[in-house]
Amino acid sequence: MNEHVGQEFDNAALVSSDRGSFFHPFTAIADQQANGALVMVEAKGSRIIDASGKEFIDAAAGLWCVNVGYGRREISDAIAAQSQKLPYFHSFNGISNEPSIRLSEKLLSLAPKSMRRVFYGSSGSDANDTAVKMLWYYNICRGKPEKRKIISRDYAYHGVSVASGSLSGIPMVHQNFGIPLDFARHVSRPDLYRDAPLRQCHTEEAYSAYLANELDQMIRAEGADTVAGFVAEPVMGTGGVLPPPRGYFQEIQKVLNLYDVRLVADEVITGYGRTGTWFASEACGMKPDLILTAKGLTSGYLPLSAVFVGDQIWSVFEEASKDGRVFAHGFTYSGHPTCAAAALANLEIIEREGLVEHVAAIAGDFRAAFDAAIGGCAIVGEIRSAGLMMGVELVADRDTKAKLPATAKIAGRVATAARRHGVLVRGLPNSDIIALSPPFIVTEEEIALIATGLRNAIEDVTQELRSEGLI
Ligand code: PMP
Repeated sequence: MNEHVGQEFDNAALVSSDRGSFFHPFTAIADQQANGALVMVEAKGSRIIDASGKEFIDAAAGLWCVNVGYGRREISDAIAAQSQKLPYFHSFNGISNEPSIRLSEKLLSLAPKSMRRVFYGSSGSDANDTAVKMLWYYNICRGKPEKRKIISRDYAYHGVSVASGSLSGIPMVHQNFGIPLDFARHVSRPDLYRDAPLRQCHTEEAYSAYLANELDQMIRAEGADTVAGFVAEPVMGTGGVLPPPRGYFQEIQKVLNLYDVRLVADEVITGYGRTGTWFASEACGMKPDLILTAKGLTSGYLPLSAVFVGDQIWSVFEEASKDGRVFAHGFTYSGHPTCAAAALANLEIIEREGLVEHVAAIAGDFRAAFDAAIGGCAIVGEIRSAGLMMGVELVADRDTKAKLPATAKIAGRVATAARRHGVLVRGLPNSDIIALSPPFIVTEEEIALIATGLRNAIEDVTQELRSEGLI
């Protein structure tokens, strides 16, 4: 990377300009004004440099997305080539383009066999919105317009648009906006660490049965004729990095089958290898009717989402079209040729370098590095992981699992301390959980550096909490 970045950019001027012009997502305005922004300028592999020249290891891959790492020439070359040939055209009214056709074929070859078609957008939120409308349209086409409620889980993250934000279950996503809208319902998330003991569930199987029963009760209480779908991330990400308990999706699937409720797998984080398989839903025992993907589809180089449509739903859509019905939904950028070219180059890298298999192969060592480095820290309650996704739940007391007061803002505080130690991790919203999801190409040496940096950050904050009398 450029060694002279610090001289090339005027960090103070950029921070000052940012303060006066840029309204940041999910950012407290007062904090941005007081602390100034961290201005990123350049990145390579798992490393990223800010405008002052400080280098970080990006242990979060941006927002769970830069899976092949930064600075991949093949992707930027593919983007440049496609944007010179045909930068953009729409795909409404049966118009198509070569990269989107090739991408669709490629995606169907990677997806579970029951998937029939791919619908494109630009973000995880719009993929969830598209899924909501597909479920509504599906039931309207079947003559069941009342069957339109969609159940998701508390603390789920499915996006922030009005519909996808309604599916999300994170309090801060709802507050101040008057959502969730009326079509959305939420059941408990599978939380083996905190919730299972409260329910007196002493095995994973018992807890899975308990949660499936809760879903069954909800569908009955609402009326099965009013429930269209159940949406779930195979491994819940922003809601706490929660791998499902054994048997969970098998039990859930039985309930859904009983009431003719379709299953939507939100694989926006897990799709394309994050947990060590191309799609986590298959590995978790889900039989989804729709699969939603984004982030890792292009490794974040350009915005692109893909919704896979399974045979049961597709056959209803095909039948309805014979009566002249049209799925009147889609975006200016659906099937964007340059974004599709970026995705094709990204998938080619993942295949050529065997990155999905690589994630599966290094997952154990990745986990072991953190068990060794932070497993014994006084405020680490639990470490959870699936592939290269990890959650670290912070507590005031490991034995009682007592929480720190919300005012301690422990997750954000540890993330800020980690930044001082050269490591970027994320504090998850409305939680005391730190998330890690490094690029798939993270090296053994970098994993060790991340683990040490995080330990130092946790120790710094532990000292502060002691002096504040909070632990
Ligand atoms: N679904 C999941 C599982 C996600 O993690 C996210 C984003 N973190 C989204 C949907 C929304 O994606 P976007 O921010 O691209 O709208």
